[in-house]
Amino acid sequence: MQAIDWDRIDLAVFDVDGTLYDASRLRRAMLGRLLLDAAARRSTRTLRILRAFRNVREDLGDEQPPEFDELQYTRTAGHAGCTADEVRALVGEWMEQRPLPLLAACRYPHVDRLFDALRAAGKQVAVLSDYPAAAKLAALGLQAHPVVSATDAEIGALKPNPTGLRAILERTGVPASRALMIGDRIDRDAAVAWQAGVQALIRTRKPDARVATFRRFDDPVFQPLLAPQAAPGMQVLAG
Ligand SMILES: [Mg+2]
Repeated sequence: MQAIDWDRIDLAVFDVDGTLYDASRLRRAMLGRLLLDAAARRSTRTLRILRAFRNVREDLGDEQPPEFDELQYTRTAGHAGCTADEVRALVGEWMEQRPLPLLAACRYPHVDRLFDALRAAGKQVAVLSDYPAAAKLAALGLQAHPVVSATDAEIGALKPNPTGLRAILERTGVPASRALMIGDRIDRDAAVAWQAGVQALIRTRKPDARVATFRRFDDPVFQPLLAPQAAPGMQVLAG
């Protein structure tokens, strides 16, 4: 278990998917709609292409090729036997647009309180995502600045490549030593933090010796922010 000393943090950088909202719940809801669509079309083509896209994105995160943005569509097209334009259109429809109205219902409890509490304590709140994040944040009713995505023209790199996190540090003027990356994956969010010399806090049910962890946004690790009057002398532990 590791503590977070909030007095030494000026910037909290949040991952989006699986961190701010329940990504499994959203996936189940979207799968229902995809199956209805497949039944109506009598084709699992869309499902297959989206599954191939997800797998390609995972591989690209491991491989870290330059210019992954084009490659994510062309490689998926190669695997799925379709055109890159079709992949792009389906991803835009099924992974970016259609989930938006469902997001608010999947938002994790207390995340809005935590954002407010961080700002009330004078800390900046930023977002770093491997997917476009601005529309999702608006749908979640959350505000962050800056919002940086792997697909931004000036970033062009997936986690754990530190380009996006370094851009956030530069834009906020906060040194790495006073920033905290909050995410849900050790191999992406903690790894990107470590690459940039930033501390990490990971949402997981399994405590991990390498990193501070939490399960919910009202866990003891956040209490000094959520209930500041209780902070003096309080022992703050994560996990
Ligand atoms: Mg995530």
